[in-house]
Amino acid sequence: MGKNIVSFSQDNDAVVVTCEDGAEFRGNILVGADGVYSSVRRNMYAQMMQNPSKEAQLPESDKEQLSFTSTCLVGQTAPLDTSKFPFVKGTDCKVGSVVGDNRPYTWSVFSMPDESICWMVTQHFNDEINSDNSQLLTTLTQSEWGPDKMNTMCDQVKTFPIPCGALYTRPSLVVGDLIEATHKDKISRVILEEKLFKTWSFGRTVLMGDAGLGAVAAIQDAAVLSDLIFHLEDTSQQAISHAFQRYREVRYPIAKQSYETSYQMSHLNEQSWISSFIRKVMNNLPKWIWYRVLDTILAK
Ligand SMILES: Cc1cc2nc3c(=O)[nH]c(=O)nc-3n(C[C@H](O)[C@H](O)[C@H](O)COP(=O)(O)OP(=O)(O)OC[C@H]3O[C@@H](n4cnc5c(N)ncnc54)[C@H](O)[C@@H]3O)c2cc1C
Repeated sequence: MGKNIVSFSQDNDAVVVTCEDGAEFRGNILVGADGVYSSVRRNMYAQMMQNPSKEAQLPESDKEQLSFTSTCLVGQTAPLDTSKFPFVKGTDCKVGSVVGDNRPYTWSVFSMPDESICWMVTQHFNDEINSDNSQLLTTLTQSEWGPDKMNTMCDQVKTFPIPCGALYTRPSLVVGDLIEATHKDKISRVILEEKLFKTWSFGRTVLMGDAGLGAVAAIQDAAVLSDLIFHLEDTSQQAISHAFQRYREVRYPIAKQSYETSYQMSHLNEQSWISSFIRKVMNNLPKWIWYRVLDTILAK
């Protein structure tokens, strides 16, 4: 619809959203599927903080700002010349990662079935940046979109050698080779945040996907939530609250597990001795143990 939601109000009978252009929409339920910086979540939490009732109590952790731990340059090359990049031969996905020595970066490559490479370079911030540190955040957010600033990060990382070992015949390949083989429209810079919100609904409003979880579960959320909404007996506040409660019961434990796994995996790339020790152990694990670990993670 091309509308930017700026606020909403709700009572026992309905919810009304207001858009930047002044348009208003009225309905029974508002689903905030508006991503990690969700305007619906911010408005909903503000309403809860002004409401003295018990159901509106917001946990302290939900009042805290999002914090940002790293920024990331991602891209996908065009199909590559396999004589220069033998790594991409075959339909299986091969993965290689490097943890920077004496520099706060990690970078990874993934071969794709169309003989292209998806690549990612992560720059780790020394200190967490909070979203109330607006000046720095604005600079970083603008750099996500500004081609000049993105070029700056490309320049900073272009000499990084890409993981080679037995997978490459040319160990001299660098990130710059991948940047050169990637169309500018297929490179993005994003800031990565870490947070699992506990409060997912209030009144007739509910959050899904990154708006509530901060994890990668948007599609599963949508399936569970739409099923519960489809089976609503009526559109009373009571029936809606019951469905939203059920939605959280089903999805929260899975979201928590997913968040924790993702947190642990991302911190494995750190330069601390403990991360380095765990990586050494992991690199030497026999395959059958790996399969067992992966089976357990997937089963959860
Ligand atoms: C670099 C990177 C790599 C990733 N890789 C993977 C991966 O390999 N696998 C995976 O599963 N996930 C991955 N993810 C995560 C995945 O992209 C998100 O979890 C997913 O997109 C969340 O979907 P969503 O619908 O909740 O939010 P979003 O995709 O963020 O969509 C939110 C939508 O709401 C709109 N919106 C925002 N504010 C407003 C407003 N005020 N009014 C109206 N509309 C608004 C936005 O324009 C947007 O269209 C990755 C993310 C990043 C940054």
